[in-house]
Amino acid sequence: MNTVATKVAVIGSGSKPHPLPPPQCTLISSCIMHVHMSSPVMGLINLWHITTCESTVSGAVCASTLAKNGASVTIFDSARGPGGRMSRRREITEDGNELLFDHGAPYFTASNADVMGLIQEWEARGFVAEWKENFGSFDFKSKAFVHIEKEGSGKKYVGVPGMNSICRALCHEPGVESRFGVGVARLEWLQGEDLWSLTDLNVIPELASKIAEVPVSPCFALMLAFEKPLSVIPVKGFSFVNSRVLSWAFCDSSKPARSGLSEHWVLHSTAEYAEGIIAQTGLQKPSNTTLTKVAQELFQEFQSTGLDISQPFFKKAHRWLVIQLIVGW
Ligand SMILES: Cc1cc2nc3c(=O)[nH]c(=O)nc-3n(C[C@H](O)[C@H](O)[C@H](O)COP(=O)(O)OP(=O)(O)OC[C@H]3O[C@@H](n4cnc5c(N)ncnc54)[C@H](O)[C@@H]3O)c2cc1C
Repeated sequence: MNTVATKVAVIGSGSKPHPLPPPQCTLISSCIMHVHMSSPVMGLINLWHITTCESTVSGAVCASTLAKNGASVTIFDSARGPGGRMSRRREITEDGNELLFDHGAPYFTASNADVMGLIQEWEARGFVAEWKENFGSFDFKSKAFVHIEKEGSGKKYVGVPGMNSICRALCHEPGVESRFGVGVARLEWLQGEDLWSLTDLNVIPELASKIAEVPVSPCFALMLAFEKPLSVIPVKGFSFVNSRVLSWAFCDSSKPARSGLSEHWVLHSTAEYAEGIIAQTGLQKPSNTTLTKVAQELFQEFQSTGLDISQPFFKKAHRWLVIQLIVGW
């Protein structure tokens, strides 16, 4: 592949590459990817079989791989920093303490040998580690834990010290330039000028309304911090069976390389619950009142497990409008 002096732009640190003759474009998932290459990037496609909880991970991998092959890559992302749905949330408590939560995708798995090779490289470089804990399910009907999966039966990986570490590292590799806070609606290759023309998202409002029509699965995440460990819970991650409100709970602070000062849990609502709230409040940024109500409802459901859940000293909800596209769309 001759990529010398090639310029590549990746929109969104989570976008994927697509083999296209220059200078075409395509829309993939939530992201737009434009490539100008002297030959298609077909050879890179199998690298995208990495999974975050069984899905593809990130255009940061795309950018870094292209850069390693001699391309000059610029990532444009509307967010403030790298990570996308593998972000890390930083909160400061009233008394000035910093709390960190992986409030998006909690971990990822891999089943492909090429991807495993990539993960081993990341482990060796110190920004990925295996999350060796027991997982299970909690059944609201029987009020008991079921299907406890022992450590190692399905390898789960996390970014260290946070889920965004992978994107953060790859976005800053030699040959990769990252521009955050740039929402891009259109990207055009100006033939003969050796330049990309970028159109800001805000000047094409009809695109935003088209995106709103795409069926997606939303979720509310609840970040909780406890003074003392919830020692009554026998696993560090579990799904909820027979709950219309909660789908998952993860003990974020049990992941490798996290601060051990307090115990952090992240709960995920069901899509059904999130859709109900969005139907009442609309798609605009949720108000503090809405987030407080959601935080109370999710926590109440957590307590109604009958487990001995103490009061957290920190409790905050976050809305994810899209955790996944609905399959078949
Ligand atoms: C709470 C939660 C739970 C999840 N659970 C699962 C699961 O169980 N299984 C599973 O397979 N997946 C799950 N996911 C999804 C998984 O996290 C993503 O599939 C994964 O992170 C990869 O996302 P992505 O590569 O599509 O890009 P994202 O991580 O979504 O990144 C897209 C990036 O593009 C940027 N962007 C978007 N539009 C523009 C624009 N116009 N201009 C500039 N920048 C733009 C955004 O700012 C963002 O940084 C979950 C996600 C969340 C939040």
